Amino acid sequence: MSDCIFCKIIDGSIPSTKIYEDEYVYAFMDISPLTKGHTLLIPKEHVANVFEMSEETASNLFKVAPRIANAIKDTVNPAGMNLLNNNGEKAGQSVFHFHLHFIPRYDETDGYKPTWVTKESEFTQEVVKQLSDEIIANLNK
Ligand code: AMP
Ligand code: ZN
Repeated sequence: MSDCIFCKIIDGSIPSTKIYEDEYVYAFMDISPLTKGHTLLIPKEHVANVFEMSEETASNLFKVAPRIANAIKDTVNPAGMNLLNNNGEKAGQSVFHFHLHFIPRYDETDGYKPTWVTKESEFTQEVVKQLSDEIIANLNK
């Protein structure tokens, strides 16, 4: 896609710090790292988000995720690692070419702070069961 920054990284017209490439995917260091070793993995096919992604593209991308994660882990020796993918502006996506973040974690002050605010009182067992029935119906349609 001509005006996509990650497509330009793949075709070499914008520079990047590449760590891995094959026929289907490209991995490179994030230009504004949240933590030491922050890396992005993208499909070579331009897809904006997970909703547009074919099973084949997903399979080609996610099959290299353990290798990438382990290579980063062996390099920076983190205490843990978050794999993150934002889909849509409201979910925090700023580049609309699918990307999987690998964010090595060190401690609470390492620059990445995911917050979880649970809402058990709003999402009762009945509500969750109804939701799950609707999701199953959509999975099977
Ligand atoms: P997101 O907010 O999930 O869409 O993440 C987009 C990520 O792309 C951010 O972490 C940016 O720092 C990163 N990014 C944007 N432009 C570049 C670039 N030219 N090279 C490497 N990473 C980039
Ligand atoms: Zn693209």
